[in-house]
This record gives sequence, C-alpha cells and structure tokens, in this order.
Amino acid sequence: MGVLRTLLLAGSQNRWLRERAPRYRFVRRAVERFIPGETLEAALQAGLTLQEQGIGTVFTYLGENITDAREAEAVAAHYAEVLARIRAWPQPAEVSVKLTQLGLDLDPELCAANLRRILDAAAPHQTVWIDMESSPYVDITLETYRRARAVYPNVGVCLQAYLYRTERDLLSLLPLRPAIRLVKGAYREPPDRAFPRKRDVDANFFALAQRLLGEEARRNGVRAAIATHDRALIRRIAAFAAAVGIPRSETEFQMLYGIQREEQQRLAREGYRMLVLISYGSSWFPWFMRRLAERPANLLFLLRHLLLG
Ligand SMILES: Cc1cc2nc3c(=O)[nH]c(=O)nc-3n(C[C@H](O)[C@H](O)[C@H](O)COP(=O)(O)OP(=O)(O)OC[C@H]3O[C@@H](n4cnc5c(N)ncnc54)[C@H](O)[C@@H]3O)c2cc1C
Repeated sequence: MGVLRTLLLAGSQNRWLRERAPRYRFVRRAVERFIPGETLEAALQAGLTLQEQGIGTVFTYLGENITDAREAEAVAAHYAEVLARIRAWPQPAEVSVKLTQLGLDLDPELCAANLRRILDAAAPHQTVWIDMESSPYVDITLETYRRARAVYPNVGVCLQAYLYRTERDLLSLLPLRPAIRLVKGAYREPPDRAFPRKRDVDANFFALAQRLLGEEARRNGVRAAIATHDRALIRRIAAFAAAVGIPRSETEFQMLYGIQREEQQRLAREGYRMLVLISYGSSWFPWFMRRLAERPANLLFLLRHLLLG
C-alpha cells in the first residue's frame, strides 16, 4: 500500500483533522468536485440532470459511526423521505446506507430496526443498498443483510474485491437471489486481510465479476452491479458479459458522482445500465479523505485550490 494512501486513510479517522479541515475554504472548494452540495435539494437536482441523460442515481447521505440513537433514527427517517421523493423518477433511483450511520456501533438490533424502517419506505422497484465498511464490520454487515434479504427482495449489499474472504462471501450469498455491488474497497486494511498490491486487487475484481455474471449467478437471479471507474476493467467485464450473452441493458455499472463523467455518459449512450452514486450532507470529511487516497493526484487539485484561494 502506498505511503500516501496509508497517511490519507489514517487522516480520515483523525478527529482533530475532521473538526478543522472543513473550516477551510480551499478544502470545501475541492470537495465540490465530488459532491453537488451539502443539501438533499442539491443532490436531487444533480440526480435529475443525470436522469435526463439516461443515467440512474443512488443517493447517500454522508455520515458514519454515529453514537447517538436519536441521530441514527433521524437518518432512517431522512432516507424514508428521500425514497418518497425519488419514487416516480424514470431511471433507477435508489439509496445506499452505511450501517454505522444507522447505529450499528450502538446496538445491532437498533441498526436492523432502522434498516427495516428504510426498507418499509422503499417501493418494490427501489433497491436499498448496504455499503460495506472496514473489515471488522464485514461479518455483522453480511448477517444484517441476510436477515433483511429473508424479508425484503429489494435489498443489496456491497462486497470488496481487496479482501481475501470475498470470494467465499460471494459464493455463500448467491443462493439468496441477492443484489451485489462489487467494488475494490476503500479502507485501510492489513495485509493478512486484504491484497496489498493493486494488481492483485484488480485480478480478484475481474475473477469476482466473472462469478457475478456467470451462469450460476444468473440462474439464481443475481443483480450484479460492477462499481468501478477502472476503464480497463470495465472493458474486460463488458466483453465477458457480451460473450456469455448478457444484453447491455442488463449489464450494470456504477460510479461515483464527479469521477469519469465521460465514461458514465458513454456507457449510458451505448445502452449499458449506468447508475451514479451521489453523496451529500455535511459529514463529508472521512469520505473525502478516502476519495483523495484513491487517487493521490487529487491532492494536487486540493493544493491548487489552496494556492488560487
Ligand atoms: C458506486 C460505488 C459505491 C461504492 N461503495 C463502496 C463501499 O460500500 N465500500 C467501499 O469500501 N468502497 C466503496 N466504493 C469505493 C471503491 O471501493 C473504490 O475505492 C473506488 O471506486 C476507487 O476504485 P476504482 O474501482 O475506481 O479503481 P481505481 O483503480 O482506484 O481507479 C481507476 C481510475 O478511476 C479514476 N478514479 C478512481 N478514484 C478516483 C478518485 N477518487 N478521484 C478521481 N479519479 C478517480 C482514476 O482515473 C483511476 O485511475 C464505491 C465505489 C463506487 C463507484
């Protein structure tokens, strides 16, 4: 793992930085590249623009590791409101939640109840995605997912290709008719849990994507969402999907707002199912640091804002 990436991911968990960095205008300006604004209204507006381009949207209200039960309940109520506001949108319009924002650190039962509240508010065509957080949360996240999936058909979960365990987790989920979003993984993980080298993560991503789009998964009615900005991987996975006879309209890619916009539009134009995850809210600091760690060149972008004011 690169030294810079390690430092940035360590910084994402630093309370001192989290409290101070957002006060600086140059930091806020740099964040604007990745979020359309802090408010739901700004996020909805950006979502509508994407919908007009034939691109679906997934909304995430930023926040994690909440330590107050009422705050976690308010997050669930907020997501219920978002689902109501986007219910009639023409393209897929969904939400993605972090279990630690729903109170997982306080009480897994409170968290599960908050998740149920969100799922009860979702229409059958609206998937509620569960983000995957750092590795200590994987077991409880998958257990919460399995319990929710036993009751609700429209719940999905994220799996991370950098973890050694993910192939096993993926195979164990297949019989549930799951919705799975495959990502590389955004947290700082030790080498006994995650591939330290990027090229091994990429190779595992491709192998897992083949499983997700393979015959057994299709027989089980799996919804596979390939969530990456890696154009080489997207090309290889699109070719694999075509070779096994999956139509473009059922080959799904997901990306983050503000990253690889042209590629997002190209995939949508060419008939692939393309969804963009839009984050918003004021608790963006750890999330922003993970975006910087993914591409240290983004630091130059931050510095440019510092110098230009
Ligand atoms: C829809 C979606 C949902 C996600 N949900 C989760 C989750 O629940 N849990 C989790 O751990 N991770 C999640 N992630 C983040 C993911 O794990 C990766 O950290 C992130 O997608 C970067 O990896 P990559 O696959 O794009 O590949 P990379 O190899 O990191 O990037 C490929 C190329 O994409 C571009 N790029 C990538 N990141 C950036 C960036 N920040 N800024 C500018 N350009 C960039 C660059 O051109 C880069 O060369 C999610 C990602 C997406 C797209």
